Parts: sequence; structure tokens; C-alpha cells
Amino acid sequence: MERVVAKDYVFHRDFSKQYPVITHAEGVYLYDEHGKRYLDASSGAIAANLGHGVTEIAEAMAEQAKKAGFVHTLRFETKVLHELAAEIGKMAPPSLNRVYFTSGGSEANESAMKLARQYHRDRGKPEKHVVIGRWQGYHGNTLGSLSAGGDSKRRKPYTATLAKFEHIHSPYCHRCPYKRSEEICQREKLLPCAEELERLIKEIGPESISSFICEPIVGSQQGAVVPPDGYLQRVREICDQNDIVFIVDEVMTGFGRTGTDFASEQFGIQPDIITFGKGVSAGYAPLAGMIVSDRIVDSLIENGDGHFIHGYTFSGHPVSVAAGLAAVRYYQRENVLSNCREQSVYLFQRLSELQQKHSSMGQIRGKGLLIGFELLMDRSQDRMFPPSFGAAERLNQEAIKRGATFYPGSGTIDGTNGDHLLIGPPLTITRDEIDELIAILDQALTAFELQVHK
Ligand code: PLP
Repeated sequence: MERVVAKDYVFHRDFSKQYPVITHAEGVYLYDEHGKRYLDASSGAIAANLGHGVTEIAEAMAEQAKKAGFVHTLRFETKVLHELAAEIGKMAPPSLNRVYFTSGGSEANESAMKLARQYHRDRGKPEKHVVIGRWQGYHGNTLGSLSAGGDSKRRKPYTATLAKFEHIHSPYCHRCPYKRSEEICQREKLLPCAEELERLIKEIGPESISSFICEPIVGSQQGAVVPPDGYLQRVREICDQNDIVFIVDEVMTGFGRTGTDFASEQFGIQPDIITFGKGVSAGYAPLAGMIVSDRIVDSLIENGDGHFIHGYTFSGHPVSVAAGLAAVRYYQRENVLSNCREQSVYLFQRLSELQQKHSSMGQIRGKGLLIGFELLMDRSQDRMFPPSFGAAERLNQEAIKRGATFYPGSGTIDGTNGDHLLIGPPLTITRDEIDELIAILDQALTAFELQVHK
């Protein structure tokens, strides 16, 4: 292949696509080289929680880069690292106070699963090594995180290489895998989706299980599906009864996305480890990590030699951490979470209105500004699209043409989950910008439905 321009040297994930070249971004908008504006209704990949062009974050990064651009945290620390760890520790549920930094969410989950394993090994339980995840979960694209998640399309080419982890189903009351209604589950105080975890533990034997990992609200795989009341508490109980480390992946839900610092708070749970990413630096720098319970850290010190056998070159990178600290201060000072809660009510309302007009809009769900809706061929017949149709991607392409971008998700091969569109704009979005988002989505849905029914 003859390369004529610089862009031909880029290795794309998908060579069949043309990617707009973004030259600058401001607030909720991205601008391309032709001056076209896109409303970023997915905060990139649900990361740019504070919108674009926040000068004080950029300045904090530049200042840190000038002072000390790289410090190897295997041997040294920085003040910004201490300060950000303290801020995050204070945001987390009370029993989680120790913060470990990585560059991305996949690395954060790798770290959590490895720490859980080491925790058991240090306590003389080396046989506890199996991780249980969920079929509808996503925890990242590295081999370990991919093994814990359940995305069949991402897993398929690597099946032979993946770790032998176990999986259960995620709760999805709207399309319950047990064909039960949420009312019956709540009345009988029995959630088969949580009991499935206990059943699997008994089947494998708790002596071989190290950790259970799940997202509190399933993001990319299901489109903001919220678990039924009591589910996460019951999972917490089951993990306790079986000496299993409970890891809650808040890479997408953390840092205000669902209206509180972490979604765990709203479900009244204290996991053993919370992983985070994306919103911690509001997308300004690669930054993620885990918040670990005092119990696990104390055990590492008492039963091991206080040494976590793990580490990355860029753990606690000073420029990323400076971005995180500036972002966290901005969230607090500008009352961003209260805007998120307020605009969430408005966005839900506007989406319900839109649903009256569009037969392709199925169930609308989510919390805060992590909202999804199911895409159906026809709501009145409750017919899902075949995954090969690429419905969500097509809808998003129609939106991009009209100046907005969302986070499309495709249905599962087994038909348990349909296509969905995830909406996760910056938490700083205004009411007028939501009106614009809805107007573009309305036009995109009209064009999409024409394509479907032509
Ligand atoms: N966990 C969840 C819940 C995510 O949504 C993602 C990314 O979308 C990840 C983990 C992986 O994070 P990263 O892409 O930063 O490695």
C-alpha cells in the first residue's frame, strides 16, 4: 500500500470507516477540520465528564509536566499523588481508603483481580484463584479483564487464550433470564439472579473462588441496566459468606456519572475493591485505579510482606494525577453532581416524550447521566433487531451526520439483549444543550426508522 499522507500510517481498529479529524473541543462540543460541530452526547467513551476545554485542568497538567514530568512510583512519590489519593479515599465508602493508580480501566481490573488472589494466598489459601464475572459485563480488553467480562463478540477470537473464569447472568428485569417479574421477586424477597451466584459457588466449591466482579449498573454491554433492589446487597452477603473478594467495577459509573461520587453509595454497599477510570481525570489524561478496603491492605501487611506483586511504569504518573486532582476539585467546586442529578430528570423526561413519537425506542433506563434505551424494530411487537443489522451503530451514524454522537451497543448473539443506545453527556450539560441533543436524536431516529421500514 502506498502511503501518501500522514493519516495513512495510522492503524485503525476498523479500516472500513472514515474518522472525522477533531481539531478542537469546547464544553459539550467537538469540532472537526471542516468546522463541523458534534455534540458529544457520550463524553467520548463516558469519560469527558466535565466537558472539553477546562483550562484549569490543562494548566495543572502543564505545571506538573514542567516541575516533574515523570516520577517512577516504585521508588518515589509526589504530593499530587498523595492529595488525589486522599480526595478519592474520602469519596469512597468508609471502609475503602487505599488508592492504587493505573493508566486505564482494564489495568485497574487486572490489578483488582490479582490483588484478590494475593490476599487469599497470603492468608494460606492458595487454591482460591477463580474469578467469577457476568455474561453481560464488560471490564476491559486486556486478556484478564476480557476473561472476566462476557462480551461474546470481543471474546470469541481469543477464546483459547482467555483465562478459565466463570460467569453468571446479570439481572435484567425487563428481559429477565428467569422469566420472573420484578414484583414477584420483590414480594418473595428472592432474586434468582443473585442466587445464581450462590449456586455457582456451591457447584465449583468456595475454596477455589477468589473474587466476584461486576458493574453496579451495566454500561456498554446492556445500556445502563440498573439491578433490582437488594441485588447488590445480596451479592455482598454471598461474597462474605464464602470468603470471596467483591470487586465493583465503577470505571464507567464513578466520579458523579450516576449522580453520586460512586454508584455503590446509592445501592448501600461497601465492596472490598472499587475500580475506577474514565471520569477520574474527566478524560484529560490516562488515569484509573482501584480503591482497596482497609481489611485487604491490613492483611497484605500482616500476612504477606506488605508488598503487592504488581506494578506498571505509568502507575501514578504525575501529569495524569495532576489532571485527576484538578478534575476532582472542579467537580466539587462547581457542584457538578447536583447539575448531573437535575439534568438527569430533564433528560429522562425529554426521552419519554421522544419515545411517544418513535416506535424504535424501547425501555429507557439508567441513573444520573448514564441513560440507555433499547432499540427495537417495533416496540408494539417487542421485536429486537438481529445483531447482524448493526442497528445501534446505524442510528449513531445518522446522529453523527446531524451533529451529535452517542455510545451505541449491539445486541448479544443469544438474543438475551437487544441493541441499545447509551447517552452519557458531560455532567456539566445545560438544559438548552439537552434540547439540542434531543432534537438531533429525533431527526436521527426518523432517518433510522426510514432505513428500517423502507
Ligand atoms: N470497565 C468498564 C465498566 C468499562 O466501561 C470500561 C471501558 O469502557 C473498562 C472497564 C475498561 O477501561 P479502559 O478502556 O480504560 O481500559
